[in-house]
Amino acid sequence: MTRAAGNHGPAAAGDAPLLPGARLGVLGGGQLGMMFATAARRMGYRVDVFSDVADCPAARHCDRLHVVRFDDPAALVEAAVGLDALTFEFENVSAAAASALADRTRVRPDPAILHTVQDRGREKAFLVQHGFPVVPHALIRDRGDLEHAAVRLGLPAVLKTAAFGYDGKGQRRVGSRADLEAAWSDLGPGELVLEAWVDFAAELSVVAARGADGAIAPFAPVHNRHRNHVLDLTTAPAPLPRAVQDEAQRLAAAILGSLGYVGVGCVEFFLLGDGRLLVNEIAPRPHNSGHLTVEACACSQFEQQVRAVCGLPLGSPRQLAPAAMANLLGDCWAGGEPDWAAALAVPGVSLTLYGKSAPRPGRKMGHLTAVAATAAEAEAAVIAARDRACRRA
Ligand code: AMP
Repeated sequence: MTRAAGNHGPAAAGDAPLLPGARLGVLGGGQLGMMFATAARRMGYRVDVFSDVADCPAARHCDRLHVVRFDDPAALVEAAVGLDALTFEFENVSAAAASALADRTRVRPDPAILHTVQDRGREKAFLVQHGFPVVPHALIRDRGDLEHAAVRLGLPAVLKTAAFGYDGKGQRRVGSRADLEAAWSDLGPGELVLEAWVDFAAELSVVAARGADGAIAPFAPVHNRHRNHVLDLTTAPAPLPRAVQDEAQRLAAAILGSLGYVGVGCVEFFLLGDGRLLVNEIAPRPHNSGHLTVEACACSQFEQQVRAVCGLPLGSPRQLAPAAMANLLGDCWAGGEPDWAAALAVPGVSLTLYGKSAPRPGRKMGHLTAVAATAAEAEAAVIAARDRACRRA
């Protein structure tokens, strides 16, 4: 494995650790930014949040909020004066803006990594080039490419926009040749990726922290269930053979190592029926499937992000109890305010709400976690709590 991207900017690997009292910035004010800010402030750091909207989840949890456009490098650089380090909570930041910021402050992970993984085409090219197993796919630039790719990969398949996709946005399942036209007119023109449909046995992910010194601390793989392409449930430990779990951790560590990654990242996998793993995608930030680390692990994914960005020793990713997480989408508000008291009456359950005002269907509003004696019990508890909250019980 080689290092595809190095650290650059004024503060490269080996710089003095940033200690509590330093000022950390996070680009993005969503729930991941909120939980990063909470962890950092608990540890004594000051936190600046950069968001393109004032009413964002992180706004109430930071020391300073900068409302700026992510495609305006000059405004970002001006707002970042005085920061000791900067990290991201989402990947859709323009590479030009991230590089301009890296010329002035310590940016983790490196903007070159962001550039690689924020585009499905570049991400897959990186993975293929380094020998990592990926879903069979083709890059699509025009309608002709799509026709050829559909023949080569076969149908069903999934058409995805190369950039700015998340939570199932910007993707369409193509079941037959008749669907090609509709998918193209929905998502084209522009760079797209057609992926073969994977009839997976399970989906899992590994969240891992990597320090500037190359130290790596992967959390145990978690088992994910999606609904409408959006994460619904996560359970840990994953009910999967030890060999599969070890291989997932090995691949995640090798991918972050190959990227020269510093920070917290997540690698999502499809597990095939024959035991092989395929990399679905890389998230250059903490991940929804790692939320249960807050309640269940010695050191959460957000504290690990603080430690990695600041050049401190990584914490222990050890899981202290079996756990599960259920997402709360805006749909849960369809019958009015959810019944939180009923949900929290379920033993072992914790509630995290992101403070978003408009509970639109499909919008991530919060999540429930549960710790229990077994992963199956934890999963039953979060499902029961969610059913009660959303008045489905
Ligand atoms: P993504 O945003 O690419 O991670 O896709 C979100 C979810 O959609 C995945 O976690 C899967 O559940 C499903 N999905 C995406 N791509 C495929 C595929 N090629 N085959 C089967 N399911 C997929």
